Amino acid sequence: MVERTKYILDEADMPTRWYNVIPDLPEPPPPPLHPGTREPVGPDDLAPLFPQALIAQEVTTDRYVDIPEEVLEVYRLWRPSPLFRARRLEKALGTPARIYYKYEGVSPVGSHKPNTAVPQAFYNAAEGVTRLTTETGAGQWGSALAFACATFGLECEVWQVRASYDQKPYRKLMMETFGATVHPSPSELTESGRAILAADPESTGSLGIAISEAVEQAAQAENTRYALGSVLNHVLLHQTIIGEEALKQFELAGDTPDVLIGCTGGGSNFGGLAFPFLREKLAGRMDPVIRAVEPAACPSLTRGTYAYDFGDTAGLTPLLKMHTLGHAFIPDPIHAGGLRYHGMSPLISHIYELGLIDAIAIGQEDCFAAGVRFARAEGIIPAPEPTHALAACIQEALRCKETGEEKVILTALCGHAHLDLPAYGAYLAGDMVDNALPDSALEKSLAGLP
Ligand SMILES: *Cc1c(COP(=O)(O)O)cnc(C)c1O
Repeated sequence: MVERTKYILDEADMPTRWYNVIPDLPEPPPPPLHPGTREPVGPDDLAPLFPQALIAQEVTTDRYVDIPEEVLEVYRLWRPSPLFRARRLEKALGTPARIYYKYEGVSPVGSHKPNTAVPQAFYNAAEGVTRLTTETGAGQWGSALAFACATFGLECEVWQVRASYDQKPYRKLMMETFGATVHPSPSELTESGRAILAADPESTGSLGIAISEAVEQAAQAENTRYALGSVLNHVLLHQTIIGEEALKQFELAGDTPDVLIGCTGGGSNFGGLAFPFLREKLAGRMDPVIRAVEPAACPSLTRGTYAYDFGDTAGLTPLLKMHTLGHAFIPDPIHAGGLRYHGMSPLISHIYELGLIDAIAIGQEDCFAAGVRFARAEGIIPAPEPTHALAACIQEALRCKETGEEKVILTALCGHAHLDLPAYGAYLAGDMVDNALPDSALEKSLAGLP
């Protein structure tokens, strides 16, 4: 018998609904608050930033949301994505564990981000919006939105964190090829950007600053809205197509995961894979341990505070109850740019508080060691972000080697590193550093909580 390496769904078997985990939780997450009144925000407060359809999805208590046919049609360019059994990695590790990874690097931009960029562009276009603004850190989200806007005929304007703009010219070129306009952030184009540059003309920027710039533009300009690539409920909702597919693929494999592992920046690829499995767990049909992995340099779940904070640096967004390091926190310039966000999705934070998931933090050197090990066995060079999940996955597989347990491990391989190879260069040259994050730095940024 052939030992299968990948489980591929037919296009016809692609899920046609996204899953909303909120109605299945023992209690709903605390609502976002208006920064002025400290009352829960209403649809009117969000209307300058998001189209009505996405505002409705943000607060829906429906368990399932139908995916529009126009979105399914674009999804079919790369979905369903494959589920792999990492047989060669298992052999290399000598583990009795069975390791599976759900691979999102097959998308047009090489990550899971288009799963939400496409519906966001679709709903905006359907409501007559003509231009979207956004920020990008590592460049993955900006590329995904640029692609999605090209698909539905929208203009796209991206504020790219200065450090990434200078280090990753190929991401900028990718966005421009899809038709987007890209600005380094902080920029002179917005009040928020000018304020940062006045204080520090050399500022290399941060995601929080870039969000302020994109939000400010969207709130002021005609027919313009803002798009966020992670953190919010509607984003995690769209990403659940990953987990819904993986459940069907596990049926094909005749297996059930005991441990599910994903990396968390804002929480979207992790939530996207984990939530459908959490539904099964809450219904008593399986009982996987669900583990979030974050960088030691930006540990919002494991060392942050669960409190109301702003989503951006300038304080323009609603207050979100989340695990946060403080909105002024600027993490070390680690290579996993997509994990350098000061907060965590309110929904993931809430589920963590409910004790339904656990979380660990790992330093980048260990992560890249895992990335290289994975690449040499499986032939895919993982993006810097999912090397965090892979490092945790390898830890678990090596524990199984000691105990002889045949655990089934599922991990989210949310992107490849073809445009992040300089990070591997730094690791291979021995130039990668892990700076300790002292408590005093966290105390300082957390003192600025609203
Ligand atoms: C954006 C990104 C992340 C971090 O965002 P999440 O919302 O936590 O998924 C992780 N990995 C990749 C490849 C990304 O592009």
